[in-house]
Amino acid sequence: MTMTIDDIRDAIYSRPNARFDGDGTLEIRASAVGNCRRGLWYEATGHQVTNPRSDDSLTMLEAGNALEPVVLRAMQRAGWDITPTDRDNPRMVSLRLGPALLVSGHVDAAGVAPIFGNEPSIVEVKTRGPEAFKKWRTLGAERSHPESVWQAAFYTYGTFDEARDVVIATLDTGGRTWDYEVIPAQRVERAFEQACARLGELSAHHVINGPDPEVLPERDFTADDWQCKRCPFLNACLPGMAAVAGEPEEEPDAKSAEPVSDEEARAALLEYEQAQEMLKAIEEDKQWALGQLRVWLKQRGEDKAKLEGGKKTRTVGMVKSTRYNVDHKRLNALLDPETRAGIVTENVSEYLRVS
Ligand code: SF4
Repeated sequence: MTMTIDDIRDAIYSRPNARFDGDGTLEIRASAVGNCRRGLWYEATGHQVTNPRSDDSLTMLEAGNALEPVVLRAMQRAGWDITPTDRDNPRMVSLRLGPALLVSGHVDAAGVAPIFGNEPSIVEVKTRGPEAFKKWRTLGAERSHPESVWQAAFYTYGTFDEARDVVIATLDTGGRTWDYEVIPAQRVERAFEQACARLGELSAHHVINGPDPEVLPERDFTADDWQCKRCPFLNACLPGMAAVAGEPEEEPDAKSAEPVSDEEARAALLEYEQAQEMLKAIEEDKQWALGQLRVWLKQRGEDKAKLEGGKKTRTVGMVKSTRYNVDHKRLNALLDPETRAGIVTENVSEYLRVS
């Protein structure tokens, strides 16, 4: 059977995350350096996949891959000097870490920033949903997606043989906007050391045990983590947890509340819609009234004036407020992740949305 360009490309990009080479070296895909080490071991030692990816998840993955050249073209239009990898014949970058471990992968692109850039950096392209995009932009890649920095660090050392600035370019698949973050060389060096230490433990496991499929490394995650929920070896690793991992967590309130039938939920939805309509009408009236008062105040040439209301005398006045914006890109470039963690903190809240 003759292989088409698409077949060759698929074979290149769908290599296993971990495998043993002919000489017994454990080869890890650079894009998988942040994966669970037990999961990598399952894959390298040929365990049967127990929880294959769903069609939807494969579609998401393929859509993400297909959008990478779109981001690179957007960067070119924005003035970046981009050298994309030839996707039909990508250059393999591999880095040997000790006698028994190899990290390999394909760089998305090398790029020079417009105006101030002088030497090419590795450009690692990611596509993220709106929430993940926001998280990345606010926290920086080292905190939100450290594995992407580890991956780019491997490409940097594999390509240039030294630490250099790395560019993480990310597309928001919801809003279809893109942005980038530069990780300075000093922090790329640190990311590289962290990733090497992580993989070093897996390498040591290999050296001590050989490619034994029954002797497994420790788990890196627990059933609550999304990594386990999407793991192709979940049933092998955490038998009986697949159902639990797949189920949404039960809300504490939902446990104690009376059951709500579909009819009751529909009645509540209709009430909600009515309330929304009323609120909308009230808000429009309010905005009209405020507009009138603004014009009245302006006519008087005053910032503040008293006016008799229905029940009491009110003060009508213009209030100025200043909003402060944080340039997260600059902040992320200036501060290391630990310092940033003390400044930009996460606060998770939840609410019910009806859309
Ligand atoms: S189920 Fe979780 S802990 Fe087990 S191999 Fe997969 S990711 Fe690792």
